[in-house]
Amino acid sequence: MSKEKKGLTRRGFLKGAVVGAGCLALSEVGFKEAIAAPRLKWNRETDVLIVGGGMSGLTAAIVAYDTKAKVLVVEKEPVMGGCLNIYGGILSGAGTRIQKAQGIVDSPEAHFLDCMRGGDFKNYAPLLKLECDNAGPTIDWLQDMGVTFRDNKAWVYPEWRGVARSYYSQPRTISRDVITREIRKREIPVITKTRVVKIYKDAKSKRVIGVEAKGEKGDNVNIRAKVVVLTTGGFANNFEMIEKYCRERKTRITVAAPWATGDGIMLGTDVGAGLTHMKYLRSYAWGLDLKSNRRGITAGSEARFQGAIQVDKKGRRFVNEMGSKADTEDGARKLPNMTFYLVVDSVIIEKCINSPYGFIGGWDRNRVFKEAERGEFIKKADTVRGVAEKAGIDPAGLEATIIRYNKFVAEKKDPDFGRKELQEKIEKPPFYVLELTPIAMYGHGGLTVKVDGRDSLKVVNKEGEVIPGLYAAGEIVGGFNGANASSGMGATPCFVFGRIAGKNAALEALEM
Ligand SMILES: Cc1cc2nc3c(=O)[nH]c(=O)nc-3n(C[C@H](O)[C@H](O)[C@H](O)COP(=O)(O)OP(=O)(O)OC[C@H]3O[C@@H](n4cnc5c(N)ncnc54)[C@H](O)[C@@H]3O)c2cc1C
Repeated sequence: MSKEKKGLTRRGFLKGAVVGAGCLALSEVGFKEAIAAPRLKWNRETDVLIVGGGMSGLTAAIVAYDTKAKVLVVEKEPVMGGCLNIYGGILSGAGTRIQKAQGIVDSPEAHFLDCMRGGDFKNYAPLLKLECDNAGPTIDWLQDMGVTFRDNKAWVYPEWRGVARSYYSQPRTISRDVITREIRKREIPVITKTRVVKIYKDAKSKRVIGVEAKGEKGDNVNIRAKVVVLTTGGFANNFEMIEKYCRERKTRITVAAPWATGDGIMLGTDVGAGLTHMKYLRSYAWGLDLKSNRRGITAGSEARFQGAIQVDKKGRRFVNEMGSKADTEDGARKLPNMTFYLVVDSVIIEKCINSPYGFIGGWDRNRVFKEAERGEFIKKADTVRGVAEKAGIDPAGLEATIIRYNKFVAEKKDPDFGRKELQEKIEKPPFYVLELTPIAMYGHGGLTVKVDGRDSLKVVNKEGEVIPGLYAAGEIVGGFNGANASSGMGATPCFVFGRIAGKNAALEALEM
């Protein structure tokens, strides 16, 4: 690794130390070589050490435990769960029991092809295939443990080209409740408020033999493990890394978890792991800037399904609002300052609020209308001109666009952008506008891993050689989504790879 890269990696980690809750400032500690000193004092020992108690980590812990290994989870936050606490609950997979009960004909091969298409064929195909082959059984496994899905149904997303293959966990937090219950039931130890800062390798064999972690009060914990599984999640809350690696380097805001600071990517590269697909970031066109610490939330993303339009500062539509996520986002990124405006009337906003997704992520009806009165994030006025003026859009431009668009709705034809779903005219005051910009969500890049039966999800170096004793699972693993993730392909692979890494790691540890 070049000096320059190593330097930046470590600076990034130092920065991350400040962002993550409950963590010691690493600047007091400094970094040591990621190779074991001759006589380390071990504070704890285990067969399988899971670094990061989130979606993939807890899944791996359950499976490793069920494979009869001794398991320990280290989590830097005060509570376990990671993205299980915040994700939208959308999963996808082919060949599930739910699909079969609905009489849906589907296959992992069809799922794989659609994901390849969605990822612009940039996907690391063997890893995606591993995911798609195991996604259906993994959704069944979650269901067996008690995860429930909306209407017990599979749903169509545009990228599935007519096949119902997505599932909405309902309630949204059910998978967190089920997975954490299973961890507690098995009494798997989870050390919270403890951040792993270094991986130890044996100087002679080069095998990973444990980690150094820092407790909340700066206490040092050396944990010896037969096998270490990195499940620390992504880096979409680390703007230094986004800027360094990603195509979408100009992204201004993020909705990624505060802990998504790329720790595991740095831990992995410090012991020689390769990186792949780092330039691809999952971002989302519909981000509302909360004007604080570059944090944002997804907003208005479902409004297009109810009839919203999107315009630029001149009040002109710039995209087929019902196009693919990638097209709508590319359109937004080409606008000055990557800013666009979502316009609805009183009928459409009601429909949004009454839909399962709401108008703005996590805001209920009261909050939406209170915010509209306050006027900081939602502009409201009784006329199109009035709302345009408040939002800083050219009023004449927006008026002309809405007259033209309403004509398209009446004629059921959009000659400008070919939008087929022309649900509602925008005509019933009051009118509302959201100012939006693309928002970072999660990364598609990460550590390189092997895909080969029992060796699957072992971390490999740039030359493709296994780093003995080290596995990875979840968002930290790069490549399977190619350039873009299809619906449910952020979370489902975390459960899938968590299960596989947990099993393989446990089997390896038990054979030692
Ligand atoms: C708001 C939001 C909504 C989403 N909704 C969906 C959705 O509906 N469907 C979908 O498919 N995808 C969704 N995603 C993406 C998906 O949820 C994530 O990619 C996935 O859950 C990540 O899981 P993970 O196990 O890799 O990481 P996480 O679940 O984030 O777990 C990582 C854990 O590691 C811990 N950790 C990090 N560094 C260290 C360290 N140094 N030492 C110890 N512990 C550490 C963290 O604190 C965290 O608990 C969403 C993402 C976001 C941000």
